[in-house]
Amino acid sequence: YTRIHETVEHWAVTSPEALALIDFDGRPLSYAELQQASKDAEADLRTEGVAPGDRVLIVSENAAATVAFLFACSRIGAWAVPVNARMSADEITRVTAHATPRVIVLTTASSKDAAAHALRLEAQSRYGLYGQVAIAVAGPSAPEPVQDGPEQIAVMLYTTGTTGDPKGVMLSHANLLFAGQASANLRGIKPGDQVYGGLPVTHVFGLASMIVASARAGAAVRLQARFTPAALYEALQDGVTVLPAVPQMHALLMQYAREQGVSKLEGSKLRYVSSGAAPLDPAWKRNAEAFYGLALQNGYGMTECTAGLSATTNLIGDPDTSVGTALPGTEARIKDGAETGEIEARGPHVMVGYYRNPEATRATIDADGWLSTGDIGRFDEQGRLHIVGRSKEIIIRSGFNVYPQEVEAALNDHPAVVQSAVVGRAADGNEEVLAFVQVADLAATDEATLKAHVAERLSGYKRPSRVVLTLQLPAAPTGKILKHKLIETFAADLN
Ligand code: ATP
Ligand code: MG
Repeated sequence: YTRIHETVEHWAVTSPEALALIDFDGRPLSYAELQQASKDAEADLRTEGVAPGDRVLIVSENAAATVAFLFACSRIGAWAVPVNARMSADEITRVTAHATPRVIVLTTASSKDAAAHALRLEAQSRYGLYGQVAIAVAGPSAPEPVQDGPEQIAVMLYTTGTTGDPKGVMLSHANLLFAGQASANLRGIKPGDQVYGGLPVTHVFGLASMIVASARAGAAVRLQARFTPAALYEALQDGVTVLPAVPQMHALLMQYAREQGVSKLEGSKLRYVSSGAAPLDPAWKRNAEAFYGLALQNGYGMTECTAGLSATTNLIGDPDTSVGTALPGTEARIKDGAETGEIEARGPHVMVGYYRNPEATRATIDADGWLSTGDIGRFDEQGRLHIVGRSKEIIIRSGFNVYPQEVEAALNDHPAVVQSAVVGRAADGNEEVLAFVQVADLAATDEATLKAHVAERLSGYKRPSRVVLTLQLPAAPTGKILKHKLIETFAADLN
């Protein structure tokens, strides 16, 4: 293959009746129908004048339309730029100014937020086998240079923005075809599988592990517009075989199951469960494995690596806290041969670059093709990679390094804690450790109890000076906690 849509074309010919998607509203689409839906979407885009090298902004919550327009862009040679409809009007304006798309497609049927953006942008409704969308003509736009081969840009994705402003990552067809196959191989995805589609398609993890992996393997994706633990629980009893999720999804499902009085999943066909995109807490891993009755595999990746960089292949109950080994066909190492240091990656999964930011690209990918991840890690004796933290997030307290992940793990160990996030704040020429803890019930515990809990587990310099309790932490649509927003969000609680 040289383009991602050729995967769908292949199955549309060889097994046209095979299930490709279950739309957000339960509508099934076969591969023949997904192929036709992509052609309908292509026709709509061409009517609007979309040409090779143009950007197409897709403002979306998961729907068959999102997938159809993604493959339609591939058919044309345009760049799909999927962004989450939960972004504010301001954020959409900023992304539009950066990407300068020819048109903006909005998945109005699956998303109230997309419908609101469509109204504001005076977008016109369009119908096809993909369902319903609205399309708006954006401002001035010029096509980027086009390549014949798989090096052509397929998608531009914005990073989560955990550590600062999101960056536009250019991914080629070769990047996505490789990552989709690697993901399918890792999970053993084959025709007949049903992959849970609750991760946003607008994030690299969902795009690669759900959409491209399934299209490569001829499997089906059960799309969900917006994640809820109740819908996941129901889907697990209704044919889902592969579950890619972020840690927060597992945590919320465990909490939901507890509320329902269910301690073990019954009546499911689930055979592969993974966690990725954020640190996997050891306590969550134990609980989730007991609940699913399966090993919970930890995958490490990032937008710049077209999702996966490494993953575990453990048996259930293995107390392994690593992120496994580099995906076959790729390399990972620690910078300058240090024992603990910045993780670097090289291989066909490494992005083309940051759009309109050649300096940042040069600072991130060196002349030999090594990508600096910004994450600190080390390899153990078995060659498995361990993530210690992010270089930007290390807190330096009285000259000692404090890794937020270690403090979070200690907090998460308390039964009343759903999840936690730890950051540093400058204080009197030093840095203090601040903890923000999500609980299901504010009456179940308090700051003093959690401080005492942590004090039993961590040496003095690692202990948080404040523990703020909340029912909700600021999160990206994947559920990843937006750490750079914590201090601002809870300013009142910190005083
Ligand atoms: P930004 O780059 O905009 O600050 P981000 O790095 O969170 O945001 P993503 O590309 O979504 O954007 O996330 C990649 C990062 O997530 C990795 O660099 C790493 O820090 C973290 N990560 C991903 N998977 C894991 C994992 N399994 N364990 C620990 N951390 C992980
Ligand atoms: Mg990043």
